[in-house]
Amino acid sequence: MSPVVLDTRMPVARKAHVCDLCRRVIRTGERYEAQSNVADGSAYTWKSCAHCAVYSAVLWADDRDYLDDGLDWTVAMDYEPGALWKLRLKAQYMRQWTRKDGALMPVPRLIRCRVFCPRTSWTGDVYTIQTSRILGVTYAPAVPR
Ligand SMILES: [Zn+2]
Repeated sequence: MSPVVLDTRMPVARKAHVCDLCRRVIRTGERYEAQSNVADGSAYTWKSCAHCAVYSAVLWADDRDYLDDGLDWTVAMDYEPGALWKLRLKAQYMRQWTRKDGALMPVPRLIRCRVFCPRTSWTGDVYTIQTSRILGVTYAPAVPR
């Protein structure tokens, strides 16, 4: 059964942590995702680096049914990307987001677009729901406005 998410935070690491998804060390000063979950009657905090938080969002968007038991290292490794940008993202994940010189890769950012889906209610009325779809990722730094 899928874990129940109680809370998700993006704190700055005050000490080193290990990413639960790629298993690399989250360095002091790095922002990471801390998710409070309950599964099978026990509570735990799932920690993932900012890179893996983006990778997780892509996996969840692709394989919501397949990820019924939640996401872990083996599921992320078995993931079969259906697009070139997803393949690139998986390759970076497998390198633990670290370049050959030891430097950390930039955190990818999701490119989303709004989608309006028509639905039919039980009374037969047609209405639209608004959702979003992930189109890809970008590595460009944030542009100040
Ligand atoms: Zn990670």
